[in-house]
Amino acid sequence: MTLAHVSGYPRIGGDRELKRALESYWQGGLDREGLEAVGHELRARHWQAQRDAGLDLVTVGDFAFYDQVLNVSALLGAVPPRFGAEDEIARGEVDLDTQFRMARGRAPRGEPAAACEMTKYFDTNYHYLVPELHAGQTFRLASSRLFDEVEEARAAGHPVKVTLIGPLTWLWLGKEKGGDAFDRLSLLEALLPVYGEVLTRLAKQGVEWVQLDEPALVQDLPQAWKQAFEAAYNLLRSAPVKLLVASYFGGLGDNLQLAVNLPVDGLHIDAVRAPEQLTPVIDNLPGYKVLSVGAIDGRNVWRADLAALHERLASARMRLGERLWIAPSCSLLHVPVDLAAETELDDELKGWLAFARQKLDETVTLARLLDGRADDADRARRDAATAALDARRESARIHRPAVAERLARLSEADTRRDSAYPERARAQRRKLDLPLFPTTTIGSFPQTVAIRAARRAYKAGELDREAYEARMREEIAATVARQEALGIDMPVHGEAERNDMVEYFGEQLDGFAFTRFGWVQSYGSRCVKPPVIVGDVARPAPMTVRWSDYAQSLTERPMKGMLTGPVTILQWSFVRDDQPRETTCRQIALALRDEVADLEAAGIAAIQIDEPALREGLPLRQAEWQGYLDWAVACFQLTAAVADDATQIHTHMCYSEFNDIIGSIAALDADVITIETSRSDMELLDAFQDFAYPNEIGPGVYDIHSPNIPEVDWMVALMEKAAERIPVDRLWVNPDCGLKTRGWAEVEPALANMVKAAETLRRRL
Ligand code: GLN
Ligand code: ZN
Repeated sequence: MTLAHVSGYPRIGGDRELKRALESYWQGGLDREGLEAVGHELRARHWQAQRDAGLDLVTVGDFAFYDQVLNVSALLGAVPPRFGAEDEIARGEVDLDTQFRMARGRAPRGEPAAACEMTKYFDTNYHYLVPELHAGQTFRLASSRLFDEVEEARAAGHPVKVTLIGPLTWLWLGKEKGGDAFDRLSLLEALLPVYGEVLTRLAKQGVEWVQLDEPALVQDLPQAWKQAFEAAYNLLRSAPVKLLVASYFGGLGDNLQLAVNLPVDGLHIDAVRAPEQLTPVIDNLPGYKVLSVGAIDGRNVWRADLAALHERLASARMRLGERLWIAPSCSLLHVPVDLAAETELDDELKGWLAFARQKLDETVTLARLLDGRADDADRARRDAATAALDARRESARIHRPAVAERLARLSEADTRRDSAYPERARAQRRKLDLPLFPTTTIGSFPQTVAIRAARRAYKAGELDREAYEARMREEIAATVARQEALGIDMPVHGEAERNDMVEYFGEQLDGFAFTRFGWVQSYGSRCVKPPVIVGDVARPAPMTVRWSDYAQSLTERPMKGMLTGPVTILQWSFVRDDQPRETTCRQIALALRDEVADLEAAGIAAIQIDEPALREGLPLRQAEWQGYLDWAVACFQLTAAVADDATQIHTHMCYSEFNDIIGSIAALDADVITIETSRSDMELLDAFQDFAYPNEIGPGVYDIHSPNIPEVDWMVALMEKAAERIPVDRLWVNPDCGLKTRGWAEVEPALANMVKAAETLRRRL
């Protein structure tokens, strides 16, 4: 019998129950017992869903109040000293509030302390808390939550498989801290006994299978890490449980031999991202080992083609017999919970989709089809999928032939501006007439309670469109007036009318669909609801022109138009799976290109095309970077290059790692790039200097994440450092990022100081 299981299930709850409970607990509305009760209820519900669907094992260990990587850090007693948790660790019970302090800096109980760093989990939009590692660190079993959850599941009568981040990936995700340089891999030896203890304790509870997640196996591993994998699992094999090592998010590549030969009882592979590895993995798999094939897409929302998968996996079933397991490619954490909740979605589109709950059914049906034990319901599910996907392929909703034709007609010249930067810069100087060290902002101004209330009222039908737009125009007028008063050289309209920088555009573009409850956990209690790119993308009408046009009418200064770039829109959506991502991105770029042309025609002399997600689109394997960067850059250029020489194209990116992609950043050929730099003390500009970056740069002079008002001298000093690296006539003065999360009480004095800093610089240099 082919066993069906999942790597993990979303824990947030169909109605975001966990989010609400957490936020209420943090604010003092819910007590600890109440919070634990919500956790208990969600786990029970999710295990029951797995059983009801017919999975052979339910997965325990995927639940976390904040983050599953943080759970493991607590389990291992890896709590940084500043949280003062020595007693808790010694007692073997790191408190939940300690975990919350690690995640957020504060909790109902315990002293506040600087939160741990958070970063994206591989190439997902899920953020984990980075384990802080220091030389000579010791570990000890310091949480019983996992074991309690196993008891809970067993008490409910479920057959249990436990999941846990594996030791190598936990270290891989960690970061060396503290003065002396050391290699975090050196901590493995101290770590393994604790993992051994965990496994032994799970075995005592009657757990047969433990899945150790090792997605680091799909990345480029240094030789020492490869060897460490072998050594570590040689040690762990003595534990009295069966181990399933899980890889996902990509192919094993050059780690294939290493992975298949690890001395464990099973291997999980991602056969969605890397279907081509199925045959070589089976060819090389030792005869005693189980292979869990991740066949259902855990990263996207599309319905699986069960008949095609059945056919594709039939030979695997024949070769492996009962050693074949079937699962989604990775944890279902990365998709929304339940499509059944989408009562307002039309049936056609609904028929093309599957969320976590539906993917459980798909997993089970596929396993039964492969076994030849499918019942009527399974066959009906398979046939319904075939019919829906056939209809999808033919649907007029997907295919807009005009889009493909336009793309086919484009040539290389369409991705190039008329002249090179120096000549454009001259034309722009004549037109814009800006001082040295021109001041600007990144686009958004405070999204006040009043703005959000107006939008809610509009969505609820309490405010009609005209009244809503009038309210937004008032906000824009006020924002422009404040920038005039502050003396900002290049104002923006402030983005009051935008709910979200991707959703706002998606809602106005053909080819996008929106769910009502399609929430996916981003971090802690934070969820995002990515749009779904369903079909060919086209722009039926201008999207931002009337707002920018109105804002420009209020001031003599050059108003900067504001667009979200094609790569970022792609990256923050669920993307269609029936054509390459690159093609979808080019379609978005083409739609935005028309918007650039229309803004320019309306007299907007500077247009910013934000690409904060460009870097996170980088593939997990370095060998694939250049291929991605090439098309990503081409898409940006396709959007921007329609602009005349005298129209100034800006872009913005808010991260601080440019070294390895600086060539591609320069290839974007934006006239001005604004970047996050204040926290790196301008050292980030070294990459730009070393590369002899040719265009203008606005290195952020203050951190908008902090409520502190930046001081004039401090910003002047930062800009002087910048001027040591970049010629002064190519420098701009601006904050690190948009101001939407701040209040006016902070924004006004901060910008007033920023303008003073620019004036000081002009006098000095
Ligand atoms: N223009 C956007 C803003 O100011 C940019 C946001 C971002 O960089 N993530 O909010
Ligand atoms: Zn930003």
